Amino acid sequence: MKKKKKDIDGELKAARNELKNLFKDISSKIHILLFADPQKDDPYALLIRQIMDLMKDAVPGLLFEEYDLKHPLAQKHQVRQSPTLLINPDRFRIKWLGAPVQEESRSFVQMLLMIGGVEGGLSDQSRKIMDAIDGRRRLKLFTSPTCPYCPQQVVNAVKAVIARPDLISIEVIDIQAFPDLAEKYKAFSVPQTFADEILIAKGAQSEELFLMSLKTMEEQHIFIPDNEAQQVTADLVIIGGGPAGLSAGIYAARSGLNTVIVERSVLGGQVALTPVVENYPGLTQIGGKQLVEIMVSHALEYVTIFQGEEVVKISPEQDTITVDTSRRRFTTKAVLLATGAGHRRLNVEGEERLSGSGVSYCSTCDGPLFKGKKVVMVGGGDSAVTEALHLKNIGVDVTLVHRRETLRAQDHLVRNLQANDIPVLFNTEIKSIEGDKRVETVVLYNNKTGETTSKKTDGVFVAIGYDPAVELAKTNGVELTEDGYIKHDSNHRTNIRGIYSAGDVAGGYKQIVIAAGQGSAAALTIFEDMVNPYWKKAGEVS
Ligand code: NAP
Repeated sequence: MKKKKKDIDGELKAARNELKNLFKDISSKIHILLFADPQKDDPYALLIRQIMDLMKDAVPGLLFEEYDLKHPLAQKHQVRQSPTLLINPDRFRIKWLGAPVQEESRSFVQMLLMIGGVEGGLSDQSRKIMDAIDGRRRLKLFTSPTCPYCPQQVVNAVKAVIARPDLISIEVIDIQAFPDLAEKYKAFSVPQTFADEILIAKGAQSEELFLMSLKTMEEQHIFIPDNEAQQVTADLVIIGGGPAGLSAGIYAARSGLNTVIVERSVLGGQVALTPVVENYPGLTQIGGKQLVEIMVSHALEYVTIFQGEEVVKISPEQDTITVDTSRRRFTTKAVLLATGAGHRRLNVEGEERLSGSGVSYCSTCDGPLFKGKKVVMVGGGDSAVTEALHLKNIGVDVTLVHRRETLRAQDHLVRNLQANDIPVLFNTEIKSIEGDKRVETVVLYNNKTGETTSKKTDGVFVAIGYDPAVELAKTNGVELTEDGYIKHDSNHRTNIRGIYSAGDVAGGYKQIVIAAGQGSAAALTIFEDMVNPYWKKAGEVS
């Protein structure tokens, strides 16, 4: 049924009053420019004019101007599409392509409230992330009038542009008004966010995750708030946020222990850098990063994670242990060392000098830089073969170089290697890596024939195993095994009362499921030791 003029007038009046109320405390001027093709009978431009008519009456000092696409201002602001709105173009680079109606009207009004100084901007946490963004970001946000999630993402972007107009520019693109652009960017679901033509988010994000994605230029799913506390008291401090540490955190917290995890670098450890993880129970195949995100999100349900700070000292006292990091002091009853293992080095000439200039230990991180180029992958275990397969899969010309006659990797991986026609140089050792500013050649030694040859290559990927990260254990008096791992009993207890170990740093099979299992078992032991101290059972005094 068609609405009566009287009803429409009533609705317009109510909308005008609502806007008047919203903008009554406006403190900064709003200037909106519409660029539209006068030849085109464009329903979107028509809608914009109607919206502006309404807003002009309601928003004090709002200045609205219309130009055609041939006007010098269109050229100045690089406006090529009709209709395009510019908002305060003297200060901000905000373009709105299409008419802000239905759900989009919510983000449009909120944007004007922020520009008008009525509503605040980024949270303190977000501002810290924003401060770490050092380069320009040109954002494109694809939205639609019927998408209830889109306003949140638009508001995130507007807050970013208001905080750093020198770095951030945004284009909000209505996919109904501009289906050609949606098609070009394959933005078939909304909201989708691109920064410098790279897709950084599908769907709406929290403000902090949006900024993290903007900073890292890839979609982020986990945000760990910064913690200012100088002193933290806990029952258990877990050092290391890989599978062992995360699982221990979940089990300890569920046993009732107040538990924190401290991680100096990347959560998930090696798993975060593994292209594909196979056969973690319940998951035939999953990306390493994705598995880590699942584990971290799960752990965050129970524990506090302190990321980006290094433990420098562990001081066991009578009933407590003090753990000093680069940022704060923890006082705890127990410590679990789950520090994992670091990449083993080849220790050949040129390796250190050209590290980061063609020598890499992480195919997930650096592989895409070698697309269409030649690289060698050194190693014969599961890691080398998995990573060679990953490189081949992303279009890198990879040759495996292994020092023995047979590979150590699991059978199905070796079969996969053959099925993918990845060449393997057996009995071959890397003698040196050469190149001026970047890797250019590797010198190879065949230990069967005694022959030395040079091979041109753009990169050398090294996956020859891991060395346990035991520096912290060593400097704090924790005993090691002959192989250099942390020495512990079958219950994960080390030689120091109250200090336990789990995962790759504790030796044994290096599998994610085993590290996770050890972490959980260690947490249960720690809980039992707190309830029923083994040293008292053993007759030790105090
Ligand atoms: P790894 O199994 O210890 O294999 C290391 C490989 O590097 C071996 O082939 C070794 O040769 C070679 N190597 C060692 N030092 C070398 C050197 N200085 N120069 C040249 N080659 C050298 O290590 P990984 O492959 O990293 O695997 C570590 C653990 O993670 C293993 O337990 C593995 O099963 C596990 N992992 C599992 C999966 C999976 O399940 N899909 C994936 C990745 C890793 P030799 O054979 O001559 O000793």
